[in-house]
Amino acid sequence: MSTFSAVDVIRTKRDGGVLSDEQIDWVVDAYTRGEVADEQMSALAMAIFLRGMTSAETARWTRAMIDSGERLTWPAGRPTVDKHSTGGVGDKITLPLAPLVAACGAAVPQLSGRGLGHTGGTLDKLESIPGWRASLSSAEIRAQLESVGAVVCAPTEGLAPADRKLYALRDVTGTVECVPLIASSIMSKKIAEGAGALVLDVKVGSGAFMPTLETARELAAALVSIGDEHGVRMTALLTDMSAPLGRAVGNAVEVAESVEVLQGGGPADVVELTVALASEMLSLAGISADPASVLASGEAYETWCALIAAQGGDPSAPLPQPTHVEQAVHAPRSGVVTRVDARSVGVAAWRLGAGRARKEDPVQAAAGVLCLAKPGESVEEGQPLFELRTDTPDAVAGALAALEGAVDVADSAPARTSLILETIHGRR
Ligand code: URA
Repeated sequence: MSTFSAVDVIRTKRDGGVLSDEQIDWVVDAYTRGEVADEQMSALAMAIFLRGMTSAETARWTRAMIDSGERLTWPAGRPTVDKHSTGGVGDKITLPLAPLVAACGAAVPQLSGRGLGHTGGTLDKLESIPGWRASLSSAEIRAQLESVGAVVCAPTEGLAPADRKLYALRDVTGTVECVPLIASSIMSKKIAEGAGALVLDVKVGSGAFMPTLETARELAAALVSIGDEHGVRMTALLTDMSAPLGRAVGNAVEVAESVEVLQGGGPADVVELTVALASEMLSLAGISADPASVLASGEAYETWCALIAAQGGDPSAPLPQPTHVEQAVHAPRSGVVTRVDARSVGVAAWRLGAGRARKEDPVQAAAGVLCLAKPGESVEEGQPLFELRTDTPDAVAGALAALEGAVDVADSAPARTSLILETIHGRR
């Protein structure tokens, strides 16, 4: 019989105490095996939400979640490096970034997620490409890393099962927005995934998990400190998510925009962030290459085509088109756009069918929003500001409601600020 009791662990944290290593190891393992019940873990998650965890507790919690499953290993040849974004609106950066960094000589095992709520998921976007497959075995991932240099796929079943179970529980118990739980959740998967180096894109602003610079900084510091503990070379960029990235928000529309970037075009902000993240990844991997010129040369596009084809997709197949397209929300005056609110656009795309309310819901590949004017661009009075795309025209009213008040137009352009707000380096 166990010497631990779930109720004692809950009471310790409820009363503001520090959990011992043994308590953490036991409760995470017992929860994964079903010995600690969902209602007990819900109470513990809420106690952690309210009382917090020390950095030592967070590091141990992360280790226990890693140990709940398998750890992946990669071929010895190229250095492995990965990127994680805390999620934003129009954040399609993984799509151009993974092939770009692979084309520069690193191996990129990018295990990604699906969208929930107003931020999209990388796998949902890629699944709009006819034939493309998200689920690969670890042997397939390894083979593709050797042949292509990059893989973007779903986490394997055996990776951090404690986190999978706990994340689903947090989602329905109001305990998601908690720095130690978010940090241990993200890092348990990234460390189990076996990348030697990791660059974090911690989003700040209305479209992000962390609306203020202060909370984003706190999350970035917690993530980097866990990486340091586990010997992962880390850099975190804090980046602006007050406006959508690029013009496209949705699934197929974001793939199309990413292909433009890989072919040397695309919106300036998407190119800027892709190149900045690639530079940090290459620096951690010890590779000296110039990602901007590799992007411009078309080599990254070739790697993209190889990546899509290796996962069963046809990179030259036409992307799905919606049955209903309409231009909406007209500029109230002539002038310069000073604000396009990321969260409003994310919610509009979600309501049009690009996202899901429950994790088992399907998404529409062709649904989404195109921003016809971005901050800093001039508009004429009456000019449409968005294009709405959907297979369910009944959803348009909800999208329009979300876009109410989302855009400001003024006499002059806002001062141009950098997308990259801060950089935090790990110990290396
Ligand atoms: N993403 C994760 O993987 N886990 C969290 O807790 C939050 C975001």
